[in-house]
Amino acid sequence: MKKERHTVCFLCSLGCGLTVNRGEDRVYYQPVATNELEYQLDNPINRGSLCGKSNYLFELLSHPKRILGPQILTSSGHRDEHWEKITSYIIEQIAELVEKYGAESIGIMLSPCLTVEETDQAISLARLIGTPHIDYCSLEDKPVLAKILRGSFFQRRLPGIEEIERMHTSFIVGDLFGVSPVLSKHFLKAKYDQRANKLIVLESSNSHTGWFADTHLRTNPGTEVMILTGILKLLFERTGEPQTLPWKETVKKALDSIDIADICKVTGVSLDQIQCAAELMMREKPSVLTLVSGFGIYDRADLVTDLCQALADATDSYFLPVFTGANSLGIHEAIAKFKPITGMTASEMVEAAEQGSLKVLLNFGVDIIRTFPGTRASNAIRQLNFLLSTAIFPNDTTAISHVVLPELPWIEKAGSTINMFGTRLKLDVVLPPPGQIKTTGEILSILIDGLKEKGFQGKSIPSPEATIQESENDFIAHVMEIRDLITSYLALGFEENQRILVPNVDFAHSGDGTITQYLSWSRRMSPEPFAIIAKGENGARDSEIVRIRSGEIETSIPVKVGQRAEKGMIVAPVHFPQIRSLLQWEMLPKLGYLNIKPAKVTVEFL
Ligand code: SF4
Repeated sequence: MKKERHTVCFLCSLGCGLTVNRGEDRVYYQPVATNELEYQLDNPINRGSLCGKSNYLFELLSHPKRILGPQILTSSGHRDEHWEKITSYIIEQIAELVEKYGAESIGIMLSPCLTVEETDQAISLARLIGTPHIDYCSLEDKPVLAKILRGSFFQRRLPGIEEIERMHTSFIVGDLFGVSPVLSKHFLKAKYDQRANKLIVLESSNSHTGWFADTHLRTNPGTEVMILTGILKLLFERTGEPQTLPWKETVKKALDSIDIADICKVTGVSLDQIQCAAELMMREKPSVLTLVSGFGIYDRADLVTDLCQALADATDSYFLPVFTGANSLGIHEAIAKFKPITGMTASEMVEAAEQGSLKVLLNFGVDIIRTFPGTRASNAIRQLNFLLSTAIFPNDTTAISHVVLPELPWIEKAGSTINMFGTRLKLDVVLPPPGQIKTTGEILSILIDGLKEKGFQGKSIPSPEATIQESENDFIAHVMEIRDLITSYLALGFEENQRILVPNVDFAHSGDGTITQYLSWSRRMSPEPFAIIAKGENGARDSEIVRIRSGEIETSIPVKVGQRAEKGMIVAPVHFPQIRSLLQWEMLPKLGYLNIKPAKVTVEFL
């Protein structure tokens, strides 16, 4: 007898639903046949659509490289170990190292693909150990989420998914259509069904989203925040004071210190275009401002988020942040409620490992080495006394982990997730996990019980006293930072062989490609890294090799001549580790996360 089971795609935060209709008695490792996959035509989020990559999700289940059991690192590499022995070993290690170095030497890092329930259990583990250091690791989403949930004075008015199709103006910051092709359908429906709909895109390269724009604010790489500032300023100067914005006087005064002519100079966008965007946002209602998170795309993604919120408020628009991590919003909200101010972020934990103050990292699902730019993370986590990693497939981080445990894709998990619209979605176990694999929830329960037996009683970790509430003065400080940023860009000089490397999202992959690199479709669509260079740049020709150098790191990859890049730019897909590693590590000390921006690189045609 066939039975329907429902799950959710975990390759981005939209949360598209899919159903598998199959008998109970099938042999587990027989892959799901196409006719067993149903597309949920009545699901309001995806209405039966799935991205190309998501159609291949089931390949993960029977992939020959999948980690199917616990492994322990020995002098001759990893060897299989029994669950009982390995969990006892982990418990011993935690107890011993807490005794020796204290609870605060332990960090817990979570992948944004953990469920809400698994996150709650991980927080219980942190409480029991007595460490405040727990965080999820999605470098793309962190600055945006940290700002949104910081108790900002801005109002966040999320649209419903159906409302997007009724918008008369859609303002998109970033390459939405590359990140979430399914969500793009809702925006395109608004564009083609509503004759008045206008699509404004703010993005430095000419991506899929830019192709559909009525107004493409093709700003110079890293200068998005300056365009947003310019639009806000023009709203005051030319369109009259925005009635909906709180503390207008403060905003106006802060913006007075910024010269719009400098913005045009630094961004390469004309005053007319900025004015056009300001007028459309003010006039054509209803409107939505969508901010797509990304790795290395914006300079100061935190300020970009602030300005997007201010602009949405000033124009009485909805504000929709789009996250890369499937459950980034759910995990961030849970951790923000728990974590005291002394708790380190994921980036700070890596720095603490580098400095030797973090001794143990319990890493649930992150390929730390692939995720972080450069080689610092790799060097840092090699110094840990104990590194535990869970993963679906072997990766650079599991290769050096003392203990490796299998992780499950969502198709095999029950629980819930929260999508970018703030909706809680339920996951069924579509297929049972193979063999003796334990879920992350089961692993966490075993660790919690084992540590209790060892005498751990939990330590009272004071929760954050109150959500950090930013004030008007903070906004003035942010505008001053933007003014300084403009000054530094005005002074930016380039030598003959220097370019700006702009990371781009390849729709065939998701995030750092840790999962999607195992999907045959994704590999076929994007088999190797390449550099898109504008026609006429140094006489660049297709398939020629270019050597790109950033600081100590360099990579040599083939060239694709294309219109996507402007002169002076190199556009390259960011899921490839060779490209991610070229971006710079720049910690924002007060905020505790990395500012990863388009990098100035040196190029040499070979
Ligand atoms: S990647 Fe995102 S948009 Fe695509 S099917 Fe999955 S959840 Fe939907």
